[in-house]
Amino acid sequence: MTRIIARPGAWRELSEVWRPDPGAVAVIGDHTVTRLFRPRLEPMVDKLAKDVHFLSFPPGDPHKTRAGKERLEDRMLALGIGRDGLVIGLGGGVSLDLAGFVAATYMRGIPSLYLPTTLLAQVDAAIGGKTGVNTSHGKNLIGAFHPPLAILADPEMLESLPEAEWRNGLAEMVKTAVAADESLFLLLESRTKTADIRSMACPKSIRRCMTVKTDIVRQDEREHGLRAVLNFGHSIGHALETLSEHRISHGEAVAAGMLAECRIAEILCGFPRSESERIGTVLRGIGFDLRLPFDSRRILETLRTDKKNRAGEIRMALPERIGRMAGNDNGHTLSVSPELLKKILESSAPARS
Ligand code: NAD
Repeated sequence: MTRIIARPGAWRELSEVWRPDPGAVAVIGDHTVTRLFRPRLEPMVDKLAKDVHFLSFPPGDPHKTRAGKERLEDRMLALGIGRDGLVIGLGGGVSLDLAGFVAATYMRGIPSLYLPTTLLAQVDAAIGGKTGVNTSHGKNLIGAFHPPLAILADPEMLESLPEAEWRNGLAEMVKTAVAADESLFLLLESRTKTADIRSMACPKSIRRCMTVKTDIVRQDEREHGLRAVLNFGHSIGHALETLSEHRISHGEAVAAGMLAECRIAEILCGFPRSESERIGTVLRGIGFDLRLPFDSRRILETLRTDKKNRAGEIRMALPERIGRMAGNDNGHTLSVSPELLKKILESSAPARS
């Protein structure tokens, strides 16, 4: 089972979570995080292993590919890293997904450790064992389940994070709260009015969010059912990202997606309108524009061609109350008719001009 240490200074506990074999260590992260964190990390890892290699790649989702993975593997092979090696994933979700997938298949699988440096990676991407790469057919379509030995989530590592990345992480925290934990939602809501959105992601709320996701994953490690609740906001969110050709951020797309899906839940699951309003207030407080950036016809068309649809049906994870999802007797998703979707998409928010 993955050990999680989430507190200020967590990185310094590397020697607590890993008693090294004599093997070499590959620290895999994008160029930005390698430049930012190598000076701090290197002295710590050097104490634990004889051979430490920092392998970096250009930042961004377009570099989370099979070709990128192959380049890292070839470098590891050339360095003679063997079966007794270890991969340390350093960075945001892109770095962790790629590093984790390298670890999953290198020499048929070697252990990994994660040092997440974005809020999104700490509260979401690091947890749950999913690793993978994107293809021209879609995101994250090739991958493996390969949980790391440990995750060291240090809030101090987030200090250099740009504001837009804080927002991306906060959107996922709101999603997790609405899907499974009312007390986390109350915590986020209580901090919405503070001037600095970073205070919403305090160490307490980060830890809580990690625990909630860990509990969900523990009940559904291979994503056969319950994990679907974590897709709340993502059906419409992904459609918006696709339509924008990824020009709008993931957080922005998921935030608008959550509000639109709340409106659907009002009709299909009796989700109270007042709770949609509270979620809207928190998301606007984070700085999201919740108006849909495309007209309903185009969003509907994109939703209809989503590869995740089952038997031609559009299915969504929808809340019943804040902290509780509907559809637990039905694969944790509900079928949403195109007619209802069209009505909600047309009425819930005007398209941005
Ligand atoms: P990211 O890894 O691209 O990081 C965002 C940007 O922030 C990058 O440019 C990065 O270099 C920079 N950065 C990272 N840490 C920094 C720091 N401390 N200071 C300054 N800059 C920093 O993006 P992300 O939002 O962390 O992750 C998105 C990825 O995660 C997507 O590929 C998504 O598919 C994946 N994901 C995976 C899972 C999973 O379960 N495996 C879950 C959610 C998302």
